[in-house]
Amino acid sequence: MLDGFGRDVRYLRLSVTDKCNCRCVYCMPAGGVRLLRHEDLLSFEELAEIVAAAASLGVERVRITGGEPLVRRGIVDLVRMVAEVPGIREVDMTTNGTLLAPLARPLREAGLTRVNVSLDTLDPVLYRRITRTGELADALAGLRALDEAGFANTKLDCVLVGGLNDADVRPVAELARDRDLSVRFIELMRMGECAGWPTERFVPAEEVLRQLPELEPAGSQGVAELYRAPGWKGTVGLIRPVTHRFCAGCDRIRVSAEGRVKPCLHSAEEISLRGLHGDALVGALRRAILAKPARSHIDVDHASQSARGMSRIGG
Ligand code: SAM
Ligand code: SF4
Repeated sequence: MLDGFGRDVRYLRLSVTDKCNCRCVYCMPAGGVRLLRHEDLLSFEELAEIVAAAASLGVERVRITGGEPLVRRGIVDLVRMVAEVPGIREVDMTTNGTLLAPLARPLREAGLTRVNVSLDTLDPVLYRRITRTGELADALAGLRALDEAGFANTKLDCVLVGGLNDADVRPVAELARDRDLSVRFIELMRMGECAGWPTERFVPAEEVLRQLPELEPAGSQGVAELYRAPGWKGTVGLIRPVTHRFCAGCDRIRVSAEGRVKPCLHSAEEISLRGLHGDALVGALRRAILAKPARSHIDVDHASQSARGMSRIGG
């Protein structure tokens, strides 16, 4: 369905939990956030009903996210239910990967199409510092399990944080040297936990091109500008929500784990889907699509107006 600015909305990001097994410094406070009660989470049936309603409006692609989606009990069954919704052509997931190793194959069999693994560094000590509770080895085992389970087009998402991981982007980027992997560097957005951080922490993705002068432009894929170095199998992508706002191509809506749809990641507007069924549910989703603003106002100095941190909407 077209929004008010002629953008065709075909992509739904579905947060299935606000819980996470990590506490990334830019995303969550060390002590965690106040969590939803289990009864406040949408049930699998409600989630599938929302996906079906969105599909009736033209949504074809769903991304399951969190918090950490793999901590939601029964996640494999949920993926299967979403994949079976008529009209849904692709079900993807964004995960920190640390719980992925034993789940990759069942998820693939359940119909998961592609996976994005978030990985900010290949240094185990820095990984621990960033995630506070995570083990790099677990995330790498998750990545390997994706290959073994036959997933293709895996993406690795690395958020650049000044003073933390911006000085050594090369080791992460070089994961794309010998594997058909898309390593994407994402600019840190001023929201939630990092809303008040000093400007030096918000590094423009241009920094990647400075550190990897061999990269050559290789087109684009969705919101990512792609680059490739001579001889590399995979690509390096830049996602620049802060320095190159890509709102004009925004084709997505987001639903939180408690059933609130957000027309824009960075606006405070939310529409509750809770308790809605049939035409009322489709109508609320239609209102959300029509409420998408032309653009967000986030930049290096201006924080997101969203009342939620990333862990409560999933990126
Ligand atoms: N837990 C899963 C994961 O880490 O992949 C899914 C949810 S997490 C919120 C989704 C993505 O958002 C991760 O890649 C994370 O690094 C990114 N993220 C979190 N806070 C961010 C921020 N302020 N700016 C940019 N990306 C952020
Ligand atoms: Fe958890 Fe993902 Fe946030 Fe890290 S970025 S704390 S893994 S939700």
